[in-house]
Amino acid sequence: MAYKCLWCGKMLRMDPANGWVHPGGGVYVVKCRRCRRTWDHYPAPVRCPVCGEPTVDDHAVRPVPVE
Ligand SMILES: [Zn+2]
Ligand SMILES: [Zn+2]
Repeated sequence: MAYKCLWCGKMLRMDPANGWVHPGGGVYVVKCRRCRRTWDHYPAPVRCPVCGEPTVDDHAVRPVPVE
């Protein structure tokens, strides 16, 4: 069965070490508070590559089955 994230709707994949992760490999999605970009890869950027603002956690993955 396929799973997607309840919060962002992205399709998830099973990582052998971390369980369900976002397509980029991150359990967490981080965001930039200034320009609103988000990243789902691992490791997540500590600062926004675009504007330099420190990133903050947006949400942790929440798997829900896709019917
Ligand atoms: Zn998500
Ligand atoms: Zn930014």
